[in-house]
Amino acid sequence: MKILVTGGAGFIGSAVIRHIINHTNNEVLNVDKLTYAGNLESLESIADSERYQFSQTDICDRIALDQIFESFQPDAVMHLAAESHVDRSITGSAAFIETNIIGTYHLLEATRHYWNGLNQNRKQAFRFHHISTDEVYGDLEGTEDLFLETTPYAPSSPYSASKASSDHLVRAWHRTYGLPTMITNCSNNYGPYHFPEKLIPLVILNALEGKALPIYGKGDQIRDWLYVEDHARALYKVVTEGIVGETYNIGGHNEKQNIEVVKTICKILDELKPQSNGQAYESLITFVQDRPGHDLRYAIDATKIGHELGWKPEETFDTGIRKTVEWYLNNLEWCRRVQDGSYQRERLGVNA
Ligand code: NAD
Repeated sequence: MKILVTGGAGFIGSAVIRHIINHTNNEVLNVDKLTYAGNLESLESIADSERYQFSQTDICDRIALDQIFESFQPDAVMHLAAESHVDRSITGSAAFIETNIIGTYHLLEATRHYWNGLNQNRKQAFRFHHISTDEVYGDLEGTEDLFLETTPYAPSSPYSASKASSDHLVRAWHRTYGLPTMITNCSNNYGPYHFPEKLIPLVILNALEGKALPIYGKGDQIRDWLYVEDHARALYKVVTEGIVGETYNIGGHNEKQNIEVVKTICKILDELKPQSNGQAYESLITFVQDRPGHDLRYAIDATKIGHELGWKPEETFDTGIRKTVEWYLNNLEWCRRVQDGSYQRERLGVNA
């Protein structure tokens, strides 16, 4: 198979490409604009493979997309390119509307144009897999409910609203034009190569520098954490075995309050790299103003993908978070290089 992956230089996209190159015989073309969040260094381990190519392209550039489809002739598209950080979407939503909505529209149209020209066999086998988030379902505050594939959409932030819009476009392109699409909605990912603006890498790096560990509000927000390599395996299963027109929720069965996550990281760091002043890392925890519109709880019911495609996560939160902390301790140079100077782990998304 030839798979066109958008956003392959990002956190999850790079895990997907490493998975495909290392564990299958398929070819990959990575189409990525290389925003602040895209780093080719995350793909260094597979970059020399004959089955891997890269094109620095914006998914909003329809002409470039048409040329890419024409020359690469993909059998499937895995669409991960997006603006992905909620706090940034509060400070400046324009890029989220551009890439997540307009970019997805251009990609759908370029795909449809290419797909219409395929012969019957290839047309039938073709897949467009849209990678989305559980944040489209909104807040589960005050309930014991889990998100199902049928849960109505109620996005809260500019980020989740832009992803919800893109999901609707993908469904419409399936229903109206027959484009063979599939959607996955996943919970919070963590693991290696995560850009240090997100909670887990930010806490690890701040702790190592003896800086404050900012906790939004009371830190009682609950997220369902999934190790990124488990997500990559799930995505590959969906693109190769999933049913056209279906949606699959993907989650780690690891509901944790943010404060618990931060305290767990602190304990692992106390053990692996104790502070020179002898104090526990927890002493760096600082409570700061909550994010505007912050959802309190997300939780995924991943029964469908388990039953229908036989996927389940391999990592528990305890094993995955330890691996993650160890990875950051061993890859501080990567962290230093991906922070290009424009972002110093400052707080975004307040006083917007
Ligand atoms: P990321 O921010 O780490 O990476 C996004 C990638 O997309 C970057 O390499 C960036 O350069 C590229 N990109 C951005 N705009 C582009 C454009 N206009 N054209 C081409 N490339 C562009 O994001 P991530 O965390 O890897 O998330 C990937 C996808 O998975 C996103 O669609 C996100 O909504 C979804 N998702 C993420 C999570 C999570 O916890 N990180 C959870 C569920 C779903």
